[in-house]
Amino acid sequence: MGRGDALVVGGGLAGTLAAAALIGHADTVTIVERDRYPEQPVFRKGVPQGRHLHVFLSGGCRALEELLPGATSELRAAGARLLEAPRDVITRASNGWHRRFHEGRHTMISCTRPLFDTTVRTSVLARAAGSGTRVEVLQATEAIGLLGGADRVTGVRLRSRDTGRAERELSADLVVDASGRGSRTPRWLDELGRRAPREEIVDAGIGYSTQMFRPAEPLDMSVVIQPRPGCPRGAAWSPVEGGNWLLTLAGVRGHHPPTEGPAVLDFVQALGAPELYEHLRTCEPVSPPYGFRDTSNRRRHYDAPGGVPEGFVVVADAACTFNPIYGQGMSVAALSGLALRGALADGGVRPGLAAAAQRAVARAGDTAWLTAIGADRPYAAGSDTTPPGAAERVQTWYFGRLADRAAVDPVVGAAFRDITHLAAPPSRLLSPAVALRTVLLPRARGLASPPLRVEP
Ligand SMILES: Cc1cc2nc3c(=O)[nH]c(=O)nc-3n(C[C@H](O)[C@H](O)[C@H](O)COP(=O)(O)OP(=O)(O)OC[C@H]3O[C@@H](n4cnc5c(N)ncnc54)[C@H](O)[C@@H]3O)c2cc1C
Repeated sequence: MGRGDALVVGGGLAGTLAAAALIGHADTVTIVERDRYPEQPVFRKGVPQGRHLHVFLSGGCRALEELLPGATSELRAAGARLLEAPRDVITRASNGWHRRFHEGRHTMISCTRPLFDTTVRTSVLARAAGSGTRVEVLQATEAIGLLGGADRVTGVRLRSRDTGRAERELSADLVVDASGRGSRTPRWLDELGRRAPREEIVDAGIGYSTQMFRPAEPLDMSVVIQPRPGCPRGAAWSPVEGGNWLLTLAGVRGHHPPTEGPAVLDFVQALGAPELYEHLRTCEPVSPPYGFRDTSNRRRHYDAPGGVPEGFVVVADAACTFNPIYGQGMSVAALSGLALRGALADGGVRPGLAAAAQRAVARAGDTAWLTAIGADRPYAAGSDTTPPGAAERVQTWYFGRLADRAAVDPVVGAAFRDITHLAAPPSRLLSPAVALRTVLLPRARGLASPPLRVEP
């Protein structure tokens, strides 16, 4: 008996990883991608955030390795840099600098977004070639609506982006929406006579700006400067392939970073991290600074009972976006791919798969959601923002204390990094050792100056 045909809307990272999850569980997987992929790993319009610094957390690395064993080595061979946190990533939090030592638990990947996506896509397509699943990509093809009815999706309406803009229909037993933050699923469900899901928004009003540099003498560490009282601005400085580094600046409303070359260094100077400023002065700009504004945390509850019709699943940014300063979205895309594969392992493409897969995908994003909204609440405002409930207020208080202690306390720090790297569930923060140190010990201060050496 056939295993069914799947169709994935969006050939970005989440779509490619959803296809990887479907290998072995469907006869065919058709990825529909609006863009035409460039020949080289360079920026493309369909991923407008692609010029910005994208780090891939250790929890994402583990999920990616489970889905595509060997992918980390492939990325490294393509030029990506591996960073061990906190040894290779120094962080100034609101209460001071974090201690720097070799914990050996969290390896992150840093490279440009085009290199990451191209390497993963090449890897998935190569693996599909040797499997019993035929994976095909329809490039320059846009999904413009769903086929079926309120209870069941049976395919997608497509429009070519080439001359003529011909429209056609393609049927599928399973449709996965991986079309990113601009997903039109709420409207498409409405067209099928189905209510759009409940939406939660927590918007800190963050503005972003990213510029590429080439240092003459590179640092032996990445640098992260988080906002602090009186200065709701931050920065991240991280190596990518080809000897280049990316500088990302961020600030809440009224503190948005500049998108004009010379003002970038002024913004860095005002952060009160003179070592970073002096280093940047010696680096050669390779690109102009690029801005980005749409950074809210937004979750659509497709996982609620009746949230999706049969035959339809929504993954990654199409279901949930995060404030990018926490570097979580790509890792959640990998965790979602793994969640989809887990749901498929329970009987393949079948009645009931959509709801089960959607719940698993939502769980895969829970830790990222809780940490992002907990950290953003103090800055969140505006009519769009959903007010916090009592449970969320307690979580925010506890997480704030814990984050402060993490700067200097190895026990709390280890738990904090497990969570912020999406490598453990939030319950990790409630283990007795962590909870007692968080609640009973006085609020901690971090180091006064950047840890230039690794502690033995
Ligand atoms: C400024 C910024 C910085 C970020 N930094 C980080 C970071 O450091 N680490 C991290 O993990 N995450 C980061 N993120 C989040 C990350 O970019 C996203 O989580 C990730 O790209 C999600 O992947 P995706 O495949 O769901 O969506 P996308 O990467 O946006 O891909 C969507 C794809 O769908 C295609 N598409 C869209 N609509 C259609 C349609 N109708 N038909 C056919 N194709 C369609 C698009 O062309 C595109 O290829 C950042 C985000 C931003 C905005």
